[in-house]
Amino acid sequence: MTDFEGLKALVTGGASGIGRATAELLSARGAQVTVLDLDPGAVTKPLLARRADVTDDTSVRTAVVAAADEMGGLDILVNNAGIGAQGTVEDNDDAQWQRVLDVNVLGVVRTSRAALPYLRGSRHAAVVNTCSIAATAGLPQRALYSASKGAVLSLTLAMAADHIHDGVRVNCVNPGTVDTPWVGRLLDAAADPAAERAALEARQPTGRLVTAEEVAAAIAYLASPAAGATTGTALAVDGGMQGLRLRPK
Ligand code: NAD
Repeated sequence: MTDFEGLKALVTGGASGIGRATAELLSARGAQVTVLDLDPGAVTKPLLARRADVTDDTSVRTAVVAAADEMGGLDILVNNAGIGAQGTVEDNDDAQWQRVLDVNVLGVVRTSRAALPYLRGSRHAAVVNTCSIAATAGLPQRALYSASKGAVLSLTLAMAADHIHDGVRVNCVNPGTVDTPWVGRLLDAAADPAAERAALEARQPTGRLVTAEEVAAAIAYLASPAAGATTGTALAVDGGMQGLRLRPK
């Protein structure tokens, strides 16, 4: 498929996991893609890469301007960079809350703010935010992470309303547990990684983790001209977790 031919895309957190799969898919379908990441060292051609920290407004602004200049514009922004946190409200202190909200929420704000002037000039402008099923599912031991993704969901809806007349569509994906390096790190840190993996798999009604490629396909759909009538939605890619209202066996 070459449905992204002529389109220019920016993917934050595109050096690993979901972002990497998304950058590679958009590129394979014809887009010119720049990855913005804290650590873009592993990104290879034809993908372009720039170092940026989404918690630093100057870093984001500089990278977005440079990427748009290099590519000759910007049509698609995938706000994907994010970090995790575990625990209840009693477990995370203010510094941890501020850190996660800074990356997961303000990171989306900063990158969108820098990209919107370019997106307004596009005939196929789309923003896709990587949210999470944690925004709506009421998962245990994820108070801070869930709150951060709840904010991303609300921000998606507010941005969709604010920019509809600019011709900028804004949607998000809500993945369940995705088999990425992030989840690998979580499992490595567990007392019994195999048991932890089995518990994560059992939480998904399909009985398996979601793949990064499955989330990338959903992001690509929302970013594509084919989704021209879709804005202000959250697409679940969660093995049925939310829609089926199933609980672990
Ligand atoms: P990952 O750790 O494999 O990749 C995240 C990427 O973001 C890394 O390349 C990292 O360098 C980059 N990054 C982190 N902080 C950054 C910053 N301050 N500035 C720029 N780049 C930064 O993680 P992943 O599993 O692919 O997660 C990607 C997104 O998907 C996140 O927003 C996460 O919340 C969301 N998500 C993941 C899962 C899951 O189970 N893996 C589920 C739902 C949602």
